[in-house]
Amino acid sequence: MIYKDIISTENLLNSWSEFVRGKKNKKDDVDIVSLVKEGNPEATDHKCPYCSVVHEFKASRARKCPDCSKKMIVRQGLFITEDQAKKLEKKI
Ligand SMILES: [Zn+2]
Repeated sequence: MIYKDIISTENLLNSWSEFVRGKKNKKDDVDIVSLVKEGNPEATDHKCPYCSVVHEFKASRARKCPDCSKKMIVRQGLFITEDQAKKLEKKI
């Protein structure tokens, strides 16, 4: 009875799924950032990946570059080109 009170099945399941989720998220973040850097070593959160103009706004979502009008894609907070994004999807 004492054993059953301390470790219930519900608690075991909760801690296991938290463990799996936490571990997975951490690993994915690290891997994707290094893949982004592999596809575009110059990628930053301010620079256009096409014309290399440094913008005042930060990479938060995909948008057109005001200078060259090409679509900048955002991955892991970094601006990359559409081609680089497509190659990245294949690696993931
Ligand atoms: Zn540009």
